[in-house]
Amino acid sequence: MTPESRPVKRGIPDGLWIQCPQCKATLFRKEVEDRLNVCPECKYHFKMSAAGRVKQLLDPDSFEEWFTHLQPVDALGFVDRISYAERLKAEQAKTGLTDAVVTGKGFIRARPVVFCVTDFSFMAGSMGSVVGEKLTRAVEEATSRSLPLIIVSGSGGGARMQEGILSLMQMGKISAALARYDEAGGLYISILTNPTMGGVAASFALQGDLTLAEPGAMIGFAGQRVISNTLRLELPQGFQTSEFLLKHGFVDRIIERKDLRTEVARIIDYCEH
Ligand SMILES: [Zn+2]
Repeated sequence: MTPESRPVKRGIPDGLWIQCPQCKATLFRKEVEDRLNVCPECKYHFKMSAAGRVKQLLDPDSFEEWFTHLQPVDALGFVDRISYAERLKAEQAKTGLTDAVVTGKGFIRARPVVFCVTDFSFMAGSMGSVVGEKLTRAVEEATSRSLPLIIVSGSGGGARMQEGILSLMQMGKISAALARYDEAGGLYISILTNPTMGGVAASFALQGDLTLAEPGAMIGFAGQRVISNTLRLELPQGFQTSEFLLKHGFVDRIIERKDLRTEVARIIDYCEH
């Protein structure tokens, strides 16, 4: 199934008008969509679906999706409000995705790349076994084909608690694949979007040769409240934003969504020639 043939799951709520969560302006939805889901008033970057990202970053019709047969299972028989098995079915029906990541090969301004993107609308983009396995296989493909690797991360919760230790294992598994990719001389560009937290930030999202971020993205391990309650410390304003992390050396560049495609292509050229 191509991303285009999937039911459209937009990153912003339904309705003709929407309110920007940052500047509170009332915005005409169509205008926001035409600007790649960015607020025309204050440049707030709304969330974007995986299909939307593929369309925005890759050359038209160039994306070949991989590993679509991998399906998540409820290995632990986990039940919170509903069972994990039921939740998976509901999330799949809602998003048209099998799990929270889309992986494959495509072209960015005619440069071939392995491309992976998480989708926040599927269980907050959390990393379960299928997400880990698809990313690991994509990294291995990038290694054997000697292709640049682009991963766009956006995960609120990080690892997926419904899969317990099986989910946490993915951090080590992806990291090991990335280490082999690095030894083989691969170029990994990590793109952080709002939000990139928890085990995702603590593994592949912050292991890029280059770490790019969209403006205003929340990036960190534990949330602000958890940290201040644990350490009983006053935390600096906006300490988990792209801008703060750029200043402190965690992020290499902040790039607006409209410029991402051109800038990624430029970085690939710079690193490969
Ligand atoms: Zn705004």
